[in-house]
Amino acid sequence: LGLDTLDFVVLCGLALAVAAYVGKDKLKSMLASNESIKVSSDSRDIVQTLRDNDKNYLVLYGSQTGTAEDYAKKFAKELSAKFSLKVMCADIENYDMQNLNELPANVVVSIFLSTYGEGDFPDGAIPFEDFLTGLSSGDLENVRYTLFGLGNSTYEFFNGASKKAQKYLSEAGATLVGKSGEADDGAGTTDEDYMTWKDALMALLKSELGLDEHEQKFEPNFQYSVMETDETDNSVSLGEPTVQYLPGQKLPFSPDGRQTGPFDSTHPYVAPIVKSRELFKSNGRNCIHADFDLSGSNLKYSTGDHLAVWPSNSNEKVEKFLNCFGLDPKVVFSLRPLDPTIKNPFPLPTTIGATVRHYLEITGPLSRQFFGSIMQFAPNAELKERLNELSNDRDEFAKEITVKYLNLADALLYLSNGAKWTSVPWNFLVESIPHMQPRYYSISSSSLTEKQTISITAIVENMLNPTSEKAEPVTGVATNLLRHIQLSQNKESAENLPLPVHYDLSGPRGLFKSHKLPVHVRRSTFRLPSNPATPVIMIGPGTGVAPFRGFIRDRVKFAEQQPNVSLGKHLLFYGSRDQNDFLYQEEWPEYSKKLGGVFEMVVAHSRLPNKPKTYVQDKLLEKEEELFKLCATQGAFIYVCGDAKGMAQGVHAALVTILSRGKQIKESEAAEMLKMLKSSGRYQEDVW
Ligand code: FAD
Repeated sequence: LGLDTLDFVVLCGLALAVAAYVGKDKLKSMLASNESIKVSSDSRDIVQTLRDNDKNYLVLYGSQTGTAEDYAKKFAKELSAKFSLKVMCADIENYDMQNLNELPANVVVSIFLSTYGEGDFPDGAIPFEDFLTGLSSGDLENVRYTLFGLGNSTYEFFNGASKKAQKYLSEAGATLVGKSGEADDGAGTTDEDYMTWKDALMALLKSELGLDEHEQKFEPNFQYSVMETDETDNSVSLGEPTVQYLPGQKLPFSPDGRQTGPFDSTHPYVAPIVKSRELFKSNGRNCIHADFDLSGSNLKYSTGDHLAVWPSNSNEKVEKFLNCFGLDPKVVFSLRPLDPTIKNPFPLPTTIGATVRHYLEITGPLSRQFFGSIMQFAPNAELKERLNELSNDRDEFAKEITVKYLNLADALLYLSNGAKWTSVPWNFLVESIPHMQPRYYSISSSSLTEKQTISITAIVENMLNPTSEKAEPVTGVATNLLRHIQLSQNKESAENLPLPVHYDLSGPRGLFKSHKLPVHVRRSTFRLPSNPATPVIMIGPGTGVAPFRGFIRDRVKFAEQQPNVSLGKHLLFYGSRDQNDFLYQEEWPEYSKKLGGVFEMVVAHSRLPNKPKTYVQDKLLEKEEELFKLCATQGAFIYVCGDAKGMAQGVHAALVTILSRGKQIKESEAAEMLKMLKSSGRYQEDVW
């Protein structure tokens, strides 16, 4: 390719113009990062990608709500920080596994897999499950793997996905290194389960792979650059959920002017909340009903689905975090993945302030492992030693950090007596703190009645912190935000209320103004039986009643449209503390009227003065005979929604009792029957 002088001058001019436009640091970082990217791989072949990028360890995750992803990334980071391994950490969804048996001999694959629904693989890992079930004996005989499952023992099929994965892998001849780990969110021990498994496994890997261990040293996955531009630059994200929402970018629209998406866990729709109200306010507890309008998009849902709401952090928590690390929120920075197996975590370039507010989980509980990794940046030897102690001593960590409900900034400032932690690099924080995850809500509207509106019913999380001297509650991110929106929408002054946190409701460049929030719909399998004559038993105390409001509204619509088709019995067991927090109490009599005798509601109250505490499971036993008849002879479908810990287990136990007494069989046999009902979809749970 010959360049004459004129071409050369034109090209130089162009380069200068580009440099002036994008800013010299940005250009520098673009050029520098291209050097470090070895292959711009679009390959879906996992082994090819690993080889092309010169990696010698593989970490795969299948995540539903981000927890498995978070632990996989922590694990990968620790392997590189401690042993200088070149780790490829990838979402199982993004790669084909067909050549997995061709992994280089010294490469171990660590799999992190969460369980969803009835012992199912997460949505994105279903192709992986298909791959595993299609294998024959010996197909994976060269594969050495480790496995960590993330589950909840309050569910019937505890860690069902990882158990299945282990069975399939071993049948295909793969070798498990160490023991598989199981995290139990139900017992609240996920982090400790991980630490116990991880510590034992790392010691084993060290000896089996002959690894040299050194003090943890942060190995960045991204090239980090500070840019000279500022917030007025339209290419700088100020917290937009995706780059498509930046000024000048094109969102896809249909000819009739509706946003076409697709909307999913990586691309939300910024939906207006057209109406919201406080369903109750009682003993410091609040519950919010919010209606999201979908009419500007082609977003669809079905009754029983979940709405994912993308929240942002409150002003108070953002300020405390920035102050703790001495960060300037206006600084614009960018990240460039150091190899193509790593994706940008959020829209870039962006500001430090926007990242802290919109893209990082800065308030959740802390892990001991995090103290182990941040220790290298402690401002002095004394604090380094203290972090070391806490990261290695489970009981001390529980006593000093966990029981005090401290988040990262709280904990560090507490340990340093308020002195700032300016020695911690910003790019370490960005790479080590989990990224903001959407919160899921069981949709409480009916897609038959209100196609363009999704309603949710959210209890505001303001947990009392018994160790806080100022009696500050431990605040939930999304639910306090929803409450603020409700107050603002109904022109109730947030100023006069003792609200623990406050929010910027206008969002980046006003994107969330007029009460909007980014959302997407997650499909669920929680569905009414297709035959309307099938009896339905619904058990949903508290906000667990949300999907059943949708179900009943569906049936009301159906009855209006097809008055000649008879409906089966619809029995709803609801529970609340008392009459004050009885959700949608004005609506139920209306539904009863419209559905006639087929809809019956049974209510349990647990805090009525001078009355014994009654829960839904007690009411189930009171209706033992009828329930047995509906289940055993009329093929009723059973649905449970709400609290996974106490309630779902109590309901399960009551159903076991009813079945075993009714059929005169042992409780273990009744439990087995319920298991079968679950497998066949006649007993469905939407519990959290
Ligand atoms: P988060 O910020 O996520 O905090 C969660 C909890 O941790 C809070 O109780 C908070 O007080 C506590 N916490 C915060 N910081 C700390 C700390 N440092 N140490 C210890 N604890 C801390 N909820 C509903 O109300 N209605 C529904 O219909 C509903 N449906 C759901 C359906 C599904 C499938 C799932 C998975 C969940 C559902 N949830 C529902 C729960 C909901 O998704 C959220 O988890 C809940 O609203 C809390 O979100 P948040 O952002 O306000 O709290």
